[in-house]
Amino acid sequence: MAESKAHKVTLIPGDGIGPEVTQAVVRILEATGVRFEWERFAAGAEAFEIFGEYIPAALYQSIERNGVALKGPVATPIGGGFKSINVTLRKRFDLFANFRPIKNLPGLETHWPGVDLIIVRENTEGEYLGLEHEVVPGVVEAIKVITEKGSTRIAKFAFEYARKHGRKKVHSIHKANIMKLSDGLFLRCARQVAEGFPDIFYGEHIIDNTCMQLVMNPYQYDTLLLENLYGDIVSDLCAGLVGGLGLVPGANLGVNCAIFEAVHGSAPDIAGKDIANPTALLQSAVLMLRHLNEEAAADRVHKALETVYAERKTLTRDVGGTAGTSQFADAVLKAMG
Ligand code: ATP
Repeated sequence: MAESKAHKVTLIPGDGIGPEVTQAVVRILEATGVRFEWERFAAGAEAFEIFGEYIPAALYQSIERNGVALKGPVATPIGGGFKSINVTLRKRFDLFANFRPIKNLPGLETHWPGVDLIIVRENTEGEYLGLEHEVVPGVVEAIKVITEKGSTRIAKFAFEYARKHGRKKVHSIHKANIMKLSDGLFLRCARQVAEGFPDIFYGEHIIDNTCMQLVMNPYQYDTLLLENLYGDIVSDLCAGLVGGLGLVPGANLGVNCAIFEAVHGSAPDIAGKDIANPTALLQSAVLMLRHLNEEAAADRVHKALETVYAERKTLTRDVGGTAGTSQFADAVLKAMG
């Protein structure tokens, strides 16, 4: 039988805990038998030191060619410095949908068992355009941009995903009582899209109330549709519901390209110590395998991950264990058989 063709994937290990969790995940992916050709690139401060560019031209070209990237977190300086690499890549490749499934893993005790939420976050607009300027000293304006096109396509993504995967409800999460025009437009577009999906319940909740509702009873929600900044914040809240940032995966999806990355950032407080949890990036890699139509490998990795959690013997510190990053990866590899 002819050997299957290797998937060419752009790999960005990133900063902080990025290289450690990426290395663990690449080891596991390579053990699936699926063939990968990794095109590895630095980005952010590290890339600037080597190439004099935060995102080297060759990295853009690689993503453009391959259409798929696996990315560790890249640190963004706070309050100054260069523009977020994550945001720049999402804009450049028009990765308009940020998809984050939130689910419990077996063996992990949390306040709410059996959480099953989908977060669909608009990924290219809102406050994330970074349009800020100083009007006069002491007064700064930040511009939030919401468009009919952007709002409609993300709403369509949420409803189409919900229908395809047999989900029952979509809630738009907003602050249209205060942001009457911008969030108002987002809601209008979502309502219009919802009309085409009479089989799916459509609801609207205000963001602050939603945060309280999520921690009091997350089961009332199914698929959450949010603007960029609200999606960023609610994602971390939802990660907390199922055991923390070390667990939750993400995918940035566009028409021609997809970048898979964990919800968490570079976590400099625990970097370089071999203690970070690679689960979030591994679950992102499982999403990537499905995107590449490698369903059997995706199932195999996911099952092994569930086995390791159910056994509770080799868990990382963030979820109550004592294992290191590489030890955890060894346990997953062993569970894969
Ligand atoms: P950003 O602003 O870049 O999105 P963030 O707010 O998501 O970052 P992180 O850098 O992800 O923040 O980390 C928040 C805290 O969560 C860290 O201090 C770290 O201790 C913990 N954390 C994040 N990711 C992991 C991980 N993979 N394993 C263990 N702990 C983690």
